[in-house]
Amino acid sequence: MRNLQNKSSAMAKGRSSRPLLIAGPCSAESPRQLLETATALAATGKVDYFRAGVWKPRTSPGSFEGMGSKALGWLKEIRQATGLAICTEVASVKHVEEALLHDLDMIWIGARTVSNPFLVQELAETLKGTTIGVMVKNPMAPDLDLWAGSIERFRQAGVGQVSAIHRGFFYWTKSLFRNHPWWHIPSGLKKRMPDLPVICDPSHIAGNSKMVPLIARRGLELGMDGLMIEVHPEPARALSDARQQLSPGAFASLILQLFGGQEGEATHYDGMLEELRAEVDVIDQVLVWALSNRMKLAGEIAGVKAHTHTGILQTNRWEQVIEGVMAKSRESGLRPDFIRNLFDQIHRESLSIQKGSPENKKPGICHTFAI
Ligand code: PEP
Ligand code: MN
Repeated sequence: MRNLQNKSSAMAKGRSSRPLLIAGPCSAESPRQLLETATALAATGKVDYFRAGVWKPRTSPGSFEGMGSKALGWLKEIRQATGLAICTEVASVKHVEEALLHDLDMIWIGARTVSNPFLVQELAETLKGTTIGVMVKNPMAPDLDLWAGSIERFRQAGVGQVSAIHRGFFYWTKSLFRNHPWWHIPSGLKKRMPDLPVICDPSHIAGNSKMVPLIARRGLELGMDGLMIEVHPEPARALSDARQQLSPGAFASLILQLFGGQEGEATHYDGMLEELRAEVDVIDQVLVWALSNRMKLAGEIAGVKAHTHTGILQTNRWEQVIEGVMAKSRESGLRPDFIRNLFDQIHRESLSIQKGSPENKKPGICHTFAI
């Protein structure tokens, strides 16, 4: 294991000789579960930090909310037994105080907590003058300013090494990812704060163990400074995030593929196609969602036009729409012809929906401008 001093200076530079590796179960469940996991992780010789959630923020009451403070003692025993540095999530001033009391090596601020600036400020002030490492997960919403702002609060408080964790973003419709990666956001954060280490959390992005290796590799390809991966001795029996945790064996073979330097080492393109296609599939779903909503609005507009005796085709309005989308397409680098043709198609469909709307079948409605 690299010693903590080397790790923090490697993280301070924003890039270590190899990426920083954080692994462990989603939640600390028992001393035995922690020891079994940590022993397997330490045996790979590649893991720097052991993670385990002690206080678990859950969507619904009644779910397993973590073992609480007593599990901090279990984590200290893990450090003693394996030499791995230890970290957990904190979400309140009390959590921070307890983590400091138990001399944890690092803490992280979870995606739900980071969205609350008053709370983040309180946490930062509680940490003032300490040297514990702080990792700031991205907020649930894809809001780069909010993420950067929280990081800034910890930096301004003058805490120990601050880094960021990219764990994907809440997505409002069904997706192949649990949390959509929107890679441009962590890339934007890196541009804004070039010295900030950014760690990828493929477990919470994927939400299922099968996709974790693809996302881990993609994160590293995109220049992330480390990985945080959930590992459980019996993933199916885990008390939280059962679907996304890797078994110690699956974790070891992933590490061998990523950093093995042997015949198991991954080529640049391994799994990339699958991951990119998963991203494309999500975008296609967004396109269909957006088109369906646009057409529903067209139906409602038809009703309003019918009641106000307004012609279906309003040339001025259409010119405005085209002007707006063409300006946007120039900014985004899309070919103007492509956008023009696409919107002509969309417009044709919208007019045909409006013509077919029951409101327009009523007598006395003017169809003169419909094409
Ligand atoms: C976790 O790391 O287990 C966790 C709850 O993370 P997030 O805040 O990203 O949901
Ligand atoms: Mn988890």
